[in-house]
Amino acid sequence: MTLTPPLPPVLSTLPTGLLVDGEWRDATDGGRFDVIDPANGRVLSSIADATPDDAQAALDAAAAAQRSWAGTTSYSRADILRRVYEVLLERREELAWLITREMGKPLADARGEVQYAANFFRWFAEEAVRIRGTHAVAPDGRGQILTVREPVGPCLLITPWNFPLAMGARKIGPALAAGCTIVFKPAPQTPLSTLALAQILQEAGLPDGVLNVLPTTRAAELVEPLLRSGVIRKLSFTGSTHVGKILLEQAASAVVRTSMELGGNAPFIVFDDADLDIAVEAAVAAKMRNMGEACTATNRLYVHEGIAAEFTRRFAARLADMPAGDGEEEGILVGPLIDAPSLAKVERLVADAIAKGARVALGGNADDLAGYLYPPTILTHVPVDADLLTTEIFGPVAPIVTFVDENDVVTRANATEWGLVGYIMTRDLDRAQRMAGALDVGMVGLNTGIVSDVAAPFGGVKESGLGREGGHLGIDEFLNHKYISVAAPKA
Ligand code: ADP
Repeated sequence: MTLTPPLPPVLSTLPTGLLVDGEWRDATDGGRFDVIDPANGRVLSSIADATPDDAQAALDAAAAAQRSWAGTTSYSRADILRRVYEVLLERREELAWLITREMGKPLADARGEVQYAANFFRWFAEEAVRIRGTHAVAPDGRGQILTVREPVGPCLLITPWNFPLAMGARKIGPALAAGCTIVFKPAPQTPLSTLALAQILQEAGLPDGVLNVLPTTRAAELVEPLLRSGVIRKLSFTGSTHVGKILLEQAASAVVRTSMELGGNAPFIVFDDADLDIAVEAAVAAKMRNMGEACTATNRLYVHEGIAAEFTRRFAARLADMPAGDGEEEGILVGPLIDAPSLAKVERLVADAIAKGARVALGGNADDLAGYLYPPTILTHVPVDADLLTTEIFGPVAPIVTFVDENDVVTRANATEWGLVGYIMTRDLDRAQRMAGALDVGMVGLNTGIVSDVAAPFGGVKESGLGREGGHLGIDEFLNHKYISVAAPKA
């Protein structure tokens, strides 16, 4: 296929190679792959397809740069991160355009993602200078206990396609702040925003070899040797639970530290004392942000029987007012899904629920829509055995299930292998506290449908993952504790 002429400025100046040791290169075998615009199927760009040999070169570069990068002052690392924050905001429009084109989300959402990504660099610029150890006098008086924090070493960072800029920022920011070097593997569907970010980091003064970027269609082939090398000391992965489990096994071979942000199956619980205006807006955010293509997206709405009809009516009115189309067009609030398999999966899940007795309150049929678009959809009377209650939907489909009893809804909400986030809509303070304690999740949205915040610890329990990103904990994932036993002075 040919490229779509004419290229907008951001694409014409974007690197299309691999970044290894400060140089943009072709893949060793010269291979390239196409990046497809999900809104129209056109080729946006052709990118170097990294091989395992390229990965070895990236690993060598990261290993060679580790000692000198770890030896820089935290002020100098913070200065680079702060510059990146500023440039991301200066270039917000073109980066938002890039995200919309390669990933599909509407421009307004993409602008929000650029802001979110920039905020990670600001936050970790501020965290870099607050890396602290501890001091204590040994209780038996035999000396002092000193602990210092040290970077874990070269890190492997792997990101998904749904927030192509922000997921990279959430990992690169703390890794650099901590003094770690990086081998970064973006998702093959959306490598362009990562390439733009890497270019910005270079221009901000990042030394050669500190960040190495490997776009590739051969993830499995390339990643396993890195994890088994003994050189990578930390893996930070965001993606599916299925792939996360494979990587955990591989990481075990060299006892690599891991942070894993995996899948979710978020319950959204609306009690009959909830403020319905707030609950509906929160549900719109929790379901429709990123077209439902987020691990934090609600996958199951449990609505108290007494208000279910009213809630569904208002929720449907809001979703019916969300036009689907090319995310770059004015007024579009729902962009295309990422690719054909994603669309097929959403269609299969909806058909399965309907076949088992669910009723369509809104949408439910993509036949009139072009490409990978799927309309905002609400299903009611969803039976417990419908596959979409136990499968991550990753699309704009909201299954509504009614409940009466609080204990019963807790049991149902927790009956999943995942535990990323749960949303609770209530005005009763006692109930809010009981529910926040009872849900087996890493994050709770209380009368809000959005939990993501750079200053908050993002992460899950159970099969939703290990570790936290963002907040004060985010940088800890990239630091070791070293204990130094200091002998008491000679008497
Ligand atoms: P999704 O289904 O959202 O694409 P994946 O878990 O498949 O989620 O992908 C998340 C990231 O993991 C992507 O960067 C992808 O290329 C990468 N990935 C997929 N399979 C493997 C694998 N076997 N080894 C290493 N990385 C992988």
